[in-house]
Amino acid sequence: MDLGIRGKVALVCGASKGLGKQVAMALAREGAKVALCAREGSALEKAAREISERFEAEVWFLPTDLSRPEEARRFARGALERFGTAHILVNNAGGPPSSSFMELEEGEWLDAFYLNFMSAVILTKEVIPSMLEQGWGRIVNLTSVAVKQPIEGLILSNAVRAAVHGWAKSLSNELASRGILVNCVCTGFMRTERVENLAKDMAEAKGVDKEEIIGNWEAQIPMGRLGRPEELADLVVFLASERASYITGTSIAIDGGYCKGLL
Ligand code: NAD
Repeated sequence: MDLGIRGKVALVCGASKGLGKQVAMALAREGAKVALCAREGSALEKAAREISERFEAEVWFLPTDLSRPEEARRFARGALERFGTAHILVNNAGGPPSSSFMELEEGEWLDAFYLNFMSAVILTKEVIPSMLEQGWGRIVNLTSVAVKQPIEGLILSNAVRAAVHGWAKSLSNELASRGILVNCVCTGFMRTERVENLAKDMAEAKGVDKEEIIGNWEAQIPMGRLGRPEELADLVVFLASERASYITGTSIAIDGGYCKGLL
């Protein structure tokens, strides 16, 4: 299937590793030019080099802390300056820390809000004028299955990611008739470095093997395994493509059947 995104410009956030990097690779494979940001400069530079060499893609990158509005804005403006326009925006960043409600200070709520909600709002506002001008745009927000089924211990993520869905649905209604489609992907357990490290930490705390922790997660997933980052990337690239032309305002889980509800 020709996805129809050759030559299009895609901004991908949190792209030095994990899910964001896989998404950037998949977009570059389909012929898109990619602008990448992430917190750590050296890992980002390495990812950018790998993507440009492997897919002969045009790649631009900027180390960025997305929890800081001025840095998020600087990334979007830099990408627009470098490529002249933006067709695709993939909102993604790190996740807020785990905690229980009474342990949290007000500032930690604001940090999570800036990292996972305001970054998406700011970046989106920066790219919409270009998308309106060309009458074509795709905004894909990576969130979590926590939106459908809150995850124990992740109260910050459970709350703030739900806000992203409320915002994205409202925005999709505003933009639908102008050719700009807005969707969210509810990410299930994907085997990234972050998830491996999380399993390792939990295993150490419980004095068990890392694979036992992963096995416990897998037991809750009808498909019996964690997802591969490439599987998520394929979904995101489809939503970012011409082929997804009648899909907007929706939230799609990719979780091997993990969520137990009907919708
Ligand atoms: P990861 O740690 O492998 O990668 C995170 C990426 O985001 C890195 O490139 C990192 O530099 C970047 N990043 C982190 N904080 C940032 C900041 N303040 N500013 C800019 N960039 C920042 O993580 P991952 O597994 O790819 O997960 C990505 C997102 O998806 C996270 O928000 C995570 O909570 C969420 N998620 C992941 C899973 C999973 O199973 N992997 C499941 C549900 C939700």
